[in-house]
Amino acid sequence: MLLQPSNRSMQTNSFDGIKDRWYELRQEFLKRMDRQQRDVIIMLLQSPNQGGRGLRLWMHRLLNDERPLPDSLPRELVQVYLDHSEAEPLFDCEACGLAIPVEPGWQRNEAKPQVVYFAACPCCGGAVGLHAYWSRQSQLASR
Ligand SMILES: [Zn+2]
Repeated sequence: MLLQPSNRSMQTNSFDGIKDRWYELRQEFLKRMDRQQRDVIIMLLQSPNQGGRGLRLWMHRLLNDERPLPDSLPRELVQVYLDHSEAEPLFDCEACGLAIPVEPGWQRNEAKPQVVYFAACPCCGGAVGLHAYWSRQSQLASR
């Protein structure tokens, strides 16, 4: 399924429109989570000072960047955000577009993260890297 902003919220450029889209996205996001992880994630999304920064960054990316989101999010991928407060969704899968967490180095060089948690996509096995999905899409489009 391709996550797209609803027509209604595209027309309204108001704060309410953004709030609606955030709420819709949050529902879609939680629906795809492993049941056992869902409660802690709801808590983290409600209480930013408890952690979950990487998960919120992931949701912001989804909100700003139309891309597919798998029907179920791999448990081990979500767990990285719960276990590592430095994890950020900077890489993605070239095949399915899933955002992949990495730990950026202190110099914040996105292309050379300090830790890459997944050598391949935990959802489909595709290659992962910085901007991998859009690079692949533009290659396919230019054929
Ligand atoms: Zn994938």
